[in-house]
Amino acid sequence: MTGIASVEQTTDNRTLLLQGAENETAPPPPLLPKKPSAKQRRKARAKNAIKGTPAADPRIKITDSPSLGCVYLGAEKSPHGAELVDPHDAFSDEEIEGMPVVYVAATYGRLHIWRDRKGSWFRTAGRISIRLRDGERVIQVALFDGADEHDLLWFNSAIELLRRGRRKNPEWVRIASDWADERTFALVFTSRSYVDPYTTKSDAAKVFVCTEKQCREQVHEVEDSHTLDTLTRSVGKNFDYEIDIVKYSHLPNQKWHVDVSGGEMAEATPEMIATFVNDLNWMSIECANANAKECTA
Ligand SMILES: [Zn+2]
Repeated sequence: MTGIASVEQTTDNRTLLLQGAENETAPPPPLLPKKPSAKQRRKARAKNAIKGTPAADPRIKITDSPSLGCVYLGAEKSPHGAELVDPHDAFSDEEIEGMPVVYVAATYGRLHIWRDRKGSWFRTAGRISIRLRDGERVIQVALFDGADEHDLLWFNSAIELLRRGRRKNPEWVRIASDWADERTFALVFTSRSYVDPYTTKSDAAKVFVCTEKQCREQVHEVEDSHTLDTLTRSVGKNFDYEIDIVKYSHLPNQKWHVDVSGGEMAEATPEMIATFVNDLNWMSIECANANAKECTA
């Protein structure tokens, strides 16, 4: 039924357009079918893809045809023609070692799976830059929506490589922009080797950048709890425990709560129990304070 209705509608529209055209001197515009938007194409691809493959995720952009825009290790220029440089020209090893790593949700760009000229698959899940942020020089990782735990590992190993010292082939470009100073850099090689996104299923946990103010983690796996504080103590050979102040991240309007887990708890003297109770009290007060802080905020 729906099919017939839409045919009629199309016919009606066409009639109307042609009628309108009779009174005009200019020829009617050709009736080309409207090209689907990139978003519509991603959605259609995801709908038809094998469940569990990256192709089934409509957030991910996939470029099937080999891309000429990629560069290989050892290149002298970035795909946009910028000179490749090494941040060690601008910073000492100690400065780079001391730079905090800040994870943010990317405000532009999309997770992209693409192929190089040889047909190999690659995956780009974000960007890394060295920049000033709130007056402090940081290494910033901007993650795209849909990034997973392996992407995170890849970014962390890229930072590790940077911290190991000067590389034989420079892999960074200087960012020239209004907001950037002369010591602002971006890593050019941000793609990792990947598998065929249409046939290979991925069970890698998705990650997201935490926006919970009191949480001490910057990035979580989906359904990970926020953590405010952790206390671990081993008070005797056979008595140890961990007390965490946590909050569920996958449910709305949650409060901080205390999570107690015991290791070996078989043998406690009254003094050990007193320490345990004292720790419990201490952590529950901190938990109550955290919740009170959020009520008044
Ligand atoms: Zn968190």
